[in-house]
Amino acid sequence: MSVAENLERVREEITQAARQAGREPSDVRLVAMSKSQELELVRQALDAGQTLFGENYVQEAQGKSQALGSDPQWHLTGHLQSNKARLAAEVFSAVQSVHSVKLAKALNRRALELDKRLTVLLQVNVGGEAQKSGCASCDAAALAQAVAEMHGLALKGLMTLPPWTDKAEEARSYFAELRQLAESLAPNLPPGSMDELSMGMSDDFMVAIAEGATLVRVGTAIFGERYYGPKK
Ligand SMILES: *Cc1c(COP(=O)(O)O)cnc(C)c1O
Repeated sequence: MSVAENLERVREEITQAARQAGREPSDVRLVAMSKSQELELVRQALDAGQTLFGENYVQEAQGKSQALGSDPQWHLTGHLQSNKARLAAEVFSAVQSVHSVKLAKALNRRALELDKRLTVLLQVNVGGEAQKSGCASCDAAALAQAVAEMHGLALKGLMTLPPWTDKAEEARSYFAELRQLAESLAPNLPPGSMDELSMGMSDDFMVAIAEGATLVRVGTAIFGERYYGPKK
């Protein structure tokens, strides 16, 4: 299957899942997770009309962004260290993985220097897994309040990466938890601060859409398996 065919299938499944949930398909945006994929495959996706991509490493995204020009938009979905905040604020239109006030402050400072308002989502560790990045659900309210006051950042919602499972249905309760958290935070924040829910990947994005996802992050189902080894 080509990237273009995969994209078409994924888009159809998004439409189907949205309709089944009584939602508008256009309310769900596809983030094509291009991390560790060859530039050529990313180019094929771009040619097939996909303009929103997700990356986990700042330098990798910078390289792809320089090679592919100004059409695509890049979202950072991986762990970011404060010392890379400057480059991140330059390369990405949104950072989905804000997990601490310290990181938010660093991004805010850099965004203000660049005279830009950087869209951010707060990454919440709904599964409470020790090895995963993200703020604890119980800390999300304080983090959201702090970010809402930073003029270089535009807070738009929450992102999560639930505990790994090979059964999509097992992720449902985590997706529901993220939605409920956003609903509980929204009344105390500026309008629009909790509009976006980034959740769902190749194996479970249809379940995530049923639970309210507005951004689904799909990699393997579009590009095939990621290849991390040395180049042959
Ligand atoms: C890789 C990745 C995805 C996509 O995973 P697939 O299973 O390949 O669709 C989604 N979100 C994040 C944060 C990722 O790192």
